[in-house]
Amino acid sequence: CRQTGIYNCLTPTIPLPPISQPLSAAEFCFSIFNSTFTDGATTFSVNTTTGEALSYSQFVSQVRSLAYSLQQRYSLSQHDVAFILSPPSIHVPVVYFALLSLGIVVSPANPLSSKSEIAHQIQLSKPVLAFVTSETSHKIPSLTHGTILLDSPEFLSLLTQSNIVNGLTKSVKVNQSDTAAILYSSGTTGRVKGVMITHRNLIAMRAVIHHQNTNQGQGNEKRPRSVTFFTVPLFHVFGFFMLLAVVLLGNTVVLVERFDFEEMLRAVEKYKVTGMPVSPPLAVAFVKSDLTKKYDLSSLQGLGCGGAPLGKDIAMRFNEKFPGVLLVQGYGLTETSGGATRAIGPEEAGRYGSVGRLAENMEGKIVDPETGEALPPGQRGELWLRGPTVMKGYVGDEKATAETLDSEGWLKTGDICYFDSEGFLYVVDRLKELIKYKAYQVPPAELEHLLHSHPEIVDAAVIPYPDEEAGQIPMAYVVRNPGSNITQAQVMDFIAKQVAPYKKIRRVAFINSIPKTPAGKILRRELINHSLSNGLSK
Ligand code: AMP
Repeated sequence: CRQTGIYNCLTPTIPLPPISQPLSAAEFCFSIFNSTFTDGATTFSVNTTTGEALSYSQFVSQVRSLAYSLQQRYSLSQHDVAFILSPPSIHVPVVYFALLSLGIVVSPANPLSSKSEIAHQIQLSKPVLAFVTSETSHKIPSLTHGTILLDSPEFLSLLTQSNIVNGLTKSVKVNQSDTAAILYSSGTTGRVKGVMITHRNLIAMRAVIHHQNTNQGQGNEKRPRSVTFFTVPLFHVFGFFMLLAVVLLGNTVVLVERFDFEEMLRAVEKYKVTGMPVSPPLAVAFVKSDLTKKYDLSSLQGLGCGGAPLGKDIAMRFNEKFPGVLLVQGYGLTETSGGATRAIGPEEAGRYGSVGRLAENMEGKIVDPETGEALPPGQRGELWLRGPTVMKGYVGDEKATAETLDSEGWLKTGDICYFDSEGFLYVVDRLKELIKYKAYQVPPAELEHLLHSHPEIVDAAVIPYPDEEAGQIPMAYVVRNPGSNITQAQVMDFIAKQVAPYKKIRRVAFINSIPKTPAGKILRRELINHSLSNGLSK
């Protein structure tokens, strides 16, 4: 709309269930899945690492049994928070759905995170219980209801309460506005925060996915079932949102505990995988690797790429190498419960560099960061988004919430974007501090905080540095104490010991002082330009 500067989805609004109707995201998925899909024998999940698999009827019965056990044996109540720290396994989706159905908040985190990173997340979300594995349990501090080991016989017994029939759990009234999940993101600035996603957010996202699938001549009853290989982690919004979509559509999910490219290709051949959510580094690997020739990948129909920018040339080379596979780029944030654009068809795939048009029910504006003015097509500014999938806020952080969500419900994404005249969105830069290493979030503030704790470091700033394989790597500018001879390797090592591997600092430069505004804010753009000109002149 030229007058207001607000962009809408071109397709009509999709109706959502009335907000006053109590409904959990789990119930919503199950109700669609039950009404369109009756074959419980279909495989729901496979773990390629262990060979374990669950059919849909086993999945549903395990969800019910676990929900019952959590209420009866663990006395968990609605609105409690449960933390999950596990590599992908067939148990994780069961845990998510059992918790969602009880109105217990699901809070999954990266199992590679360090103890102190997890302590910070736990401080934010205040869980009463954690689902862990033998490998991750030592990272969890003491919680009211302790921990449940997913790889223990006790957990298996919680899944097989033989007397469970529908309705045995104490009924809970889950309001759509209740928090369903707390996922972690640093947002536009500072340290990691807990993003509160409501049941309504998840229902709205699922309603759109259901609509997109049924409106493309792919009614659930008729179309062949999709088999999705998960290369994206289940704790990240991308995996979380894809998992709910798989259940909603009655599809099959193939999981791997530790990702390996060749293992994945083998799984595509073995399980006749039809689609995969991927991050850009994986699209690069598809283009560059010769291993792809060793396996029969003919079942593959599409890859949905997101989480970080996908290079135009990579998309083109992918299409040349795999003409039968549709590679579409989507865009979204943890704060929008996943995909905010509609990245689904050949039209989108052919728009190299674009992340698609806005998803149904989503509004957008491009705002001039200086003047606050909404800009017309072709002009660059900060993307603001509004719609039913936008988060409720950051848990326990009203200040950060107010800085990110305005009073009219607009979410400031921190991304510099523009729309073309046909409504296709292009992401061109990042206004916010965030670094994305292989699409994983690396908040500079967290690394700066650690650098400041080093006795030989006076000041430091961390910025993104471009990298072909990872997209970006964290680079530190460090001001040493007078007389200190600390080396680049020592700085990197100091950080590496304290953070998850993807957050490691991979490049260091020493500098006399960190450029800052009079108010003390780091002038990151100056450092980024400095690093680029130095990198190029080498
Ligand atoms: P996350 O909350 O981890 O999903 O990170 C969201 C951020 O990832 C966005 O604000 C963007 O900066 C970036 N991002 C996600 N998808 C894309 C994309 N297709 N192109 C460019 N940046 C992206």
